[in-house]
Amino acid sequence: YRSKHVGRNIVTTFEATLQDEQTLALEHELREGLSNGEITVYYQPQIDLSSGIIVGVEALVRWLHPSRGLLPPGEFIQLAEECGLIVELGETVLRMACLEMKRWEQQGISYETVWVNLSPRQFQSPDLLSSIQTILRETGLPPTSLGLEITESLAMKNTDQIMNKLHQLRDLGVRIAIDDFGTGYSSLSYLQQFPINVIKVDKSFTKLSSDEQNPRFIVTAILALARELNLRVIAEGMEHIEQIHWMRQEGCDYAQGYVVARPMTPELLSETYLELSDR
Ligand code: C2E
Ligand code: CA
Ligand code: CA
Ligand code: CA
Repeated sequence: YRSKHVGRNIVTTFEATLQDEQTLALEHELREGLSNGEITVYYQPQIDLSSGIIVGVEALVRWLHPSRGLLPPGEFIQLAEECGLIVELGETVLRMACLEMKRWEQQGISYETVWVNLSPRQFQSPDLLSSIQTILRETGLPPTSLGLEITESLAMKNTDQIMNKLHQLRDLGVRIAIDDFGTGYSSLSYLQQFPINVIKVDKSFTKLSSDEQNPRFIVTAILALARELNLRVIAEGMEHIEQIHWMRQEGCDYAQGYVVARPMTPELLSETYLELSDR
């Protein structure tokens, strides 16, 4: 028994070491990737449900890994957050997104807002404000064209520190959205204290299956609340045209999802946009 036990411990230790090594290797690769320009950004449009026009785009990071191909954020954001690379990664995405908006503008394409995801650690970094100011100044993008998405779970911590940061960002003129709304089980009364513009209803609530776990009245209630608080609402994860119809009928402002368009390169997005407006 004893030797078996010891043996298991050795195996466990070995596995842990192997995992540490893999993590370290990936961290090293990500650091390299950042300086080699392997980080790229895809954009997914958001449409106005009453006009069908693209009003905004969400910037979604991708890593063009030299051997593993195009990696989605699920493969590296967590690691970046843990090893602190997220601040640099986030700045890279912010800068690219602001530059891209200026480029679209020069092509005669004007979206109202480019939305960028902020990770908790990035949001809490003391340099966030100054780095956003620098990026806006250097790219010449008006602050009102930049939106920042923070997750509900971060926002709802509702500490003075987070509240101050949100107010400072709002004073800069940038727009703020609460991402994945509905998943944080937050007290809704907090919502009215927050200096935000938009809530993004998480895709788990917009599925339209009328099962008990996913009742439609939750979305209806969120929309009513948003109207009271004068917030705009984006429905996320729209995969079927029926969802779009229902959301429009319920008075939701904007929609985003595969049925509208998948995230894509900025080049493809401008081609698609020009094609649509040619019709
Ligand atoms: P998110 O912010 O909730 O972004 C929406 C995710 O849903 C994206 O996945 C998008 O591709 C996907 N999606 C869009 N439409 C549909 C749909 O109709 N159905 C389904 N099932 N999914 C849809 P993606 O690009 O893999 O990003 C995953 C998450 O990674 C994001 O979730 C966000 O939390 C994070 N992320 C992405 N880019 C960044 C970034 O630059 N910085 C940080 N900190 N996080 C990022
Ligand atoms: Ca988001
Ligand atoms: Ca989301
Ligand atoms: Ca999410």
